[in-house]
Amino acid sequence: MIGERKRNETYEGRRGCGLNTRVVRVDKDNPDKTVLQEVGEVIKKGGLAAFPTETVYGLGGDGLNAGSSQKIYAAKGRPSDNPLIIHIADMESLAQITEDVPEKAKKLAEKFWPGPLTMIFKKSDRVPYETTGGLESVAVRMPSHQTALALIRAGGGFIAAPSANTSGRPSPTSAAHVAEDLTGKIEVIVDGGEVGIGLESTIVDFTEEVPVILRPGYINQSMIEEVIGPVRMDRGLLITDEKVKPKAPGMKYRHYAPNAELTIVQGSTEKVVQYINEQCLALQAQGKRTGVIGTDETRKFYQGTVVKSIGTRQDEEGIARHLFGILRAFDEEKADCIFSESFDTPRMGQAIMNRLLKAAGHHIIYL
Ligand code: AMP
Ligand code: MG
Repeated sequence: MIGERKRNETYEGRRGCGLNTRVVRVDKDNPDKTVLQEVGEVIKKGGLAAFPTETVYGLGGDGLNAGSSQKIYAAKGRPSDNPLIIHIADMESLAQITEDVPEKAKKLAEKFWPGPLTMIFKKSDRVPYETTGGLESVAVRMPSHQTALALIRAGGGFIAAPSANTSGRPSPTSAAHVAEDLTGKIEVIVDGGEVGIGLESTIVDFTEEVPVILRPGYINQSMIEEVIGPVRMDRGLLITDEKVKPKAPGMKYRHYAPNAELTIVQGSTEKVVQYINEQCLALQAQGKRTGVIGTDETRKFYQGTVVKSIGTRQDEEGIARHLFGILRAFDEEKADCIFSESFDTPRMGQAIMNRLLKAAGHHIIYL
């Protein structure tokens, strides 16, 4: 089945829990240098610290230290073949961890770095295979979040950071989400408030002749093509065929999933509301708790046990920002089944639907 984690591929259990996880608060735009210096020292010594970025919270360790990367996999329960993104704070750092950075990639960096874009290159010898999941390539991003940039500098310049959630759960968009998943498993959580974008970075692979988008994000295909011309979407993203594996190892795993079974319902508003209500009433008659993800425009029409709005359809960035938080909120509500409207919005729709479909295990009803 797509996305089932192979237990024997994880580092789970190699590292005991029970660390005393400290939470430090910072002003996200003007973080206290002394505090970040201390957190940077933790990372330099091989420890782990979660920190805010403009996309989601990251779980950071020294990307050039094999032991740190192994600890990241252990803390997240992440399969060890799922490589980490190295976060840098300046262009000089890029040259140290990569070979062959094509001109097109430099152009994208000029346009979108610092920002929510990750690029994949051939790795240099400095990057351990533990960080790249055994691959010869390395994923690199320069975030724009001031706290993230300051921490990268304080932590030695190369911070490997996947999303700071337990593997498989929705990515964290607040420090509270991080604490839910990682308390006792990491040294520090840097709390810089809510994140801005709420979905992980766009990933573009530059190890192929024609660059390939491996994960859609805030920066969409047309924004990239405006700068460097044609790019491809990874076939594994477009097709729900188990035999076509996505090239980003992480994209093959079930991900972002709430505990409840999630179903996406797509069609005209009238039909969607009618279908979801029929399902909810039938399930509730069997004693089940149902959840509905609607919008400000539609929430009043639904009859689920718990109905939540993801925001207004007028604001697709808001929908993206609220998605992971709303999935977590339904876990707290102990919903048995969740129904969600579809959000194929104009600019970020591809990224939003990619995450929502994965959360639903690709369970979508077309009306
Ligand atoms: P996360 O760190 O949770 O945002 O996930 C990082 C994503 O980047 C995963 O889907 C990884 O599989 C993908 N990734 C990282 N490094 C590489 C690489 N060298 N080649 C392909 N995909 C990568
Ligand atoms: Mg992740």
